[in-house]
Amino acid sequence: MNLIDKLENNQRLTLEDGVALYELDLFTLGHYASLRRRAKHGNKAFFNINRHINPTNICKDICKFCAFSANRKNPNPYTMTHESILSQLEVSVKNGITEVHIVSAHNPDTGLEWYLEIFSKVKKQFPHLHVKALTAAEINFLSEQYNQSTDSIIDKMLAYGVDSMPGGGAEIFDEKVREYICKGKVSSQKWLDIHKAWHQKGKQSNATMLFGHVESRENRIDHMLRLRDLQDITGGFNAFIPLVYQRDNNYLHVEDFLSSTEILKTYAISRLMLDNISHIKAYWATSTINLALVALEYGADDLDGTIEVEAIQSAAGASSAHGLKMETFIELIETSGFTPVQRDSLYNEIKTY
Ligand code: SF4
Repeated sequence: MNLIDKLENNQRLTLEDGVALYELDLFTLGHYASLRRRAKHGNKAFFNINRHINPTNICKDICKFCAFSANRKNPNPYTMTHESILSQLEVSVKNGITEVHIVSAHNPDTGLEWYLEIFSKVKKQFPHLHVKALTAAEINFLSEQYNQSTDSIIDKMLAYGVDSMPGGGAEIFDEKVREYICKGKVSSQKWLDIHKAWHQKGKQSNATMLFGHVESRENRIDHMLRLRDLQDITGGFNAFIPLVYQRDNNYLHVEDFLSSTEILKTYAISRLMLDNISHIKAYWATSTINLALVALEYGADDLDGTIEVEAIQSAAGASSAHGLKMETFIELIETSGFTPVQRDSLYNEIKTY
């Protein structure tokens, strides 16, 4: 069966098919991705009202693509007190957030309790807030640093009030690329095993892919397929989030930015390859809000959220440092011809605009 026949008949796609999809023109790809997206979600474009908190940028790891951690290019180390996290959240809660997204660097000096008590204190003060926290990379770091199994860290996350896991730290699963861009960080298999263990506790998570640096198209498809295989087993991934690499202030030295066409193709191909992950998120902090809105026609159905404050991508050149106002979000979605749907962290619909 040729590729177009497979797309017409909703057949599951192989690694070779995925690479071949990149050779199709953007409009053909967009047509099929949009059909799939509309079959699942109609004209809805999801977003949530959330706040990102990045409690420390001191890191024992040295990922070449990272502009967030404190190092020669970003010589401003910080570690927030729990009190300052809570007082910042107080303002955000008044603004209506339903989720706090907490991701840190791998700080070896704070102690395990410093990480965990953030969650219990947030839950105590704001019981209604959904706490999305600790990437698989952070869980692996805490497990190694404090000589505990990853299962034990996961049990502690549950006990301290973490509701779901973010998808960070996946980068690119191909072992050679991983060795080059983030040697020493959680291995690909470990990343997948940690999410599997989390899903087997009945919990949900997201999955990311950092693209547009030194990886090949085949590496991207391989990454998607490893996620698809795990999703077949657990069904625990809510959303796949292709993150566009940001090139400022890091040590990767990538000369060429990806074209908008390549970015849109990657969103569309994500939708077509990942037939078992419901949501494809165009995370506007890395793609720009304008391209994220266009991505809604290329398979994406979710734009993440208002964010409010963001330190990781903005350190590398993204324009997300101050988030977006909810009214702006809604207006942008509407003028793009979609129906804005505010969702909670697990994609239950809160309000349709
Ligand atoms: S990406 Fe994360 S683990 Fe890697 S250096 Fe940056 S903060 Fe540390």
